[in-house]
Amino acid sequence: MLAVVLLVVFQFDTSYKAFLQSPRSEAVFVGLTQGRYKISDFADDPVVLWFWRNTANDPQADSLLMRTHFRRNFHISAALRWEAKEADDYETAMNKLNLASHLDSSAVENFLSFLALAAKSRKVDPVISALALPVFTDFRSQIFFIANGIVLVFLAFFMCGFVYVASKTVYYLPVISHRIDIQEHGRLKGIIGLVALLFPVLVFRNLFLIFVSYAVLLLFVFSKHERNLLRGILCFMIVVFVFSLPLHDLMLFLSKDSKSYRLYEMVHYDNSMTLDSDNEQEKLFEAYALKQVGDLERSMSLYEEMYYTGRREIAVVNNLANIYFIYGEVARAETLYSYTMRAGSKGEPFFNMGLLKLRSLEYSESSRYMAEARRRGFSSSSTEPLDIMPSTSEFYRILLSEKLDLFGAINPIFFFASLAIFVLSFLPYRFPPPFYCTTCGRAICRKCQEAEADEIICKECFAKLKTTENVEMEQLLRHSVGNRHRRMKRTIAYLLNAIVPGAGLIYLNKNFSGLCVVYLVMLTYTPLLLPQFFVKPAGWVSLPLSSIFVVIAVVVALFAYVYTFLAIRGVHGD
Ligand SMILES: [Zn+2]
Ligand SMILES: [Zn+2]
Repeated sequence: MLAVVLLVVFQFDTSYKAFLQSPRSEAVFVGLTQGRYKISDFADDPVVLWFWRNTANDPQADSLLMRTHFRRNFHISAALRWEAKEADDYETAMNKLNLASHLDSSAVENFLSFLALAAKSRKVDPVISALALPVFTDFRSQIFFIANGIVLVFLAFFMCGFVYVASKTVYYLPVISHRIDIQEHGRLKGIIGLVALLFPVLVFRNLFLIFVSYAVLLLFVFSKHERNLLRGILCFMIVVFVFSLPLHDLMLFLSKDSKSYRLYEMVHYDNSMTLDSDNEQEKLFEAYALKQVGDLERSMSLYEEMYYTGRREIAVVNNLANIYFIYGEVARAETLYSYTMRAGSKGEPFFNMGLLKLRSLEYSESSRYMAEARRRGFSSSSTEPLDIMPSTSEFYRILLSEKLDLFGAINPIFFFASLAIFVLSFLPYRFPPPFYCTTCGRAICRKCQEAEADEIICKECFAKLKTTENVEMEQLLRHSVGNRHRRMKRTIAYLLNAIVPGAGLIYLNKNFSGLCVVYLVMLTYTPLLLPQFFVKPAGWVSLPLSSIFVVIAVVVALFAYVYTFLAIRGVHGD
């Protein structure tokens, strides 16, 4: 059975609305504008502070808000990021972002906004603020990075394959167009063939269709090594596809459209939402949420149910002990704390025990436990016992237990077309060699070849060489024709490489190093080239991220250009 969403109300929002409708808001407004009150008088009332910053745009209210304590609030944090986005100068944007991350420290949007601000203003401070946020331990942020990581790896593989096929097409296009014309091999007919072969580029507005048509065409001329590389790329695409099966569930989570998201929201954000748990696993979440909204009775009965059916995770035992502590059942609380302190290495139970000892005025015992908590990396200024949140692994268990949707995230056409090319690559049919004249580099076939000693040359070269009178002249002619060919080849390599670093190396048959460079470059280019494929969580508000991607892409491209152009210069064209 599906869980019922009882109520999705943000507690802060409710009290804020109540305040706006009460006569108090009027009195506070008048008092503050006339100077009878100071905003610092309301330092511990976030509702008034929020009201005053919104009506009077007073920066002092913002700095006071920085000192108040909130449960994570997604919406207010998003509103502040919006203000940061609209801000005219660096200082304002930075202040807004600081407040936004104070209200929701684990939101990945805040982390990325800081980085975007750093990239845009070329300053280091925002990077330091970003790295101080506990973003990577947060479940939603992890899901964001995993989902987009899979998309990035997949797209970069595809784009890498695309560049490979494109560079090889440039190299083999004369051969293929020569072979299309099965009768006489004239130059004009070759040009007609060439135009026919450019058809997919001109007609298809889709990178994938272009990739498929030329990949199939190239199978007729590829050498064994080149085929294997194409198979490798296709194989990786298929493997990444298999690994991306849970991607659809991750995307549903990020679009706030799944049960695991509602559980996450219930546990992490400021709201009064509770879900009825459907199974044992979800009880942990429900009990925690009930405790957060103050329903101690129901929370306690759930925790007890779990405890007496044998669940002894620290998050169960510690939180149950906390409720006993609040109810004044000190002995029971102490037994449970002792159990959790023996069972795990978390600092919270020690802290809570220390608090308990403090209440019963056993000061030296208390400070001993507090020191133990600090030794485990935990300290807090709280005067209430602290609960342990359901861990991220619990969330993963829930998320991965959701139904897998085979083709939810990736269009099946991509998968089957890749598979089809992979299978086709094993068919034995190939165009018979020779492909090129060894002297002038023109595309030839068996019909228009002339065998001269042990090398294969075209009829034109053969005729030219025949007219020469002696061996020296022949060598000279051969050399000059060959030079022209080499220069041409190198120019094309440079041009291709200028478009995508690494493509020139692939053109010159330095396939592996070329592919590595292209893949690295594509990892940084795809967020800019194909932003529509990346997953944006629902309610996304952030500073534009393109500035981050541009900085990364420029740095990587710079290194890639230097490396590849030097490598091309080192290749002896023949
Ligand atoms: Zn020739
Ligand atoms: Zn021919």
